[in-house]
Amino acid sequence: MTDIAELLETAGLTGRGGAAFSTAIKIKAAKENGAELIVNACDGEIGAAKDAWIVEHHLHELIEGAALVASGKRPRISYAAHRGSRTAELIARAGLPLLEVPHRYVSSEETSLISLAHGGLAKPMTKRAPFVFGGRDSQGRRVSPTVVLNAETVWRISQINRLGAEWFRSFGTTAEPGPRLVWVGGHVARPGMCEAAAGVSLSDLLDFAGGLPADARHVGVGGLGGVVITAADARTTIWDTPSMKQLGGALGPGIVTVWNPAECPVETAARLISYGAGESAGQCGPCMFGLPALAADWADLARNPTSKGRQHLKLRLSQLERRGACAHPDGVARFAQSALRTLAPEFAAHANHSCQKVRTPKARTAHAQFA
Ligand code: SF4
Repeated sequence: MTDIAELLETAGLTGRGGAAFSTAIKIKAAKENGAELIVNACDGEIGAAKDAWIVEHHLHELIEGAALVASGKRPRISYAAHRGSRTAELIARAGLPLLEVPHRYVSSEETSLISLAHGGLAKPMTKRAPFVFGGRDSQGRRVSPTVVLNAETVWRISQINRLGAEWFRSFGTTAEPGPRLVWVGGHVARPGMCEAAAGVSLSDLLDFAGGLPADARHVGVGGLGGVVITAADARTTIWDTPSMKQLGGALGPGIVTVWNPAECPVETAARLISYGAGESAGQCGPCMFGLPALAADWADLARNPTSKGRQHLKLRLSQLERRGACAHPDGVARFAQSALRTLAPEFAAHANHSCQKVRTPKARTAHAQFA
């Protein structure tokens, strides 16, 4: 019988949570070290909904996938979901071990879940050991070998086991094989879950949700850690890593959101950046101080767009790069960088006071905007 890690390597499965790391390598290390498994069903990114969809519609396959990759005679498996969510309720109702995660943006980050599972806080660990081998956290506490896999990754493992690597490779591209879930939402006629694959056009993805409305101006790809592009680019771009890279992004965790054209996009971006700043876990200076400073710089530039302000913002963004213990500041900076580039015409409209949409109601949260 083929070893599951070998099968996954042949299939070319990569993590569906956004990092796109080889699942076979992770599983091999997990099995060799007898690691406990955490299935991440938190839908932590803004606009994400696929983990909830899998738990709602394919729970038995999720359980099957987890059993295939868990190690040892008495495998330790837990399912992480946000406290009080429908996903958590379904997991608990099925009698599965539930890891209840607080509702914070960074609480479902990989090492946050490992910390929480070992009795710590749901905050990213500042010591970035590959915990699949076990180790110690920054306080010297022992952390037993643990591997975290996204719910869609685990679901795909069960599919590959049943249907084969060849079936999996019949979707997507040679470099990025396999089906992928994408939530298409925001300003569309029929928001919903789409089963897609790398290499489709963004336009086809949007057609699934009723098409890109004629009045749409901007489309977010990948949530807060992703990018915002113009509707014109969305009509012509291919959804794969090489094409998304040219726009500063990646495939990410499978989220496409059409921004509401009735709202000023500079303000929409401001709201997201401020939300990201408020979600820092307050452990690293560049994140704790740098993100609020970025949000303040963005608000200043929106009020008074000058080339000096723009340069200042660019400098701020460069100071955030790879400076946090986790990828949170990098994700917010990447989003702000793309918004600065894409929204150049809107900043110009702010400069000549011709933007008609400024000061739209702010009652909606960043999550509500992207639901
Ligand atoms: S970068 Fe920010 S969110 Fe990540 S560990 Fe540091 S303070 Fe926490």
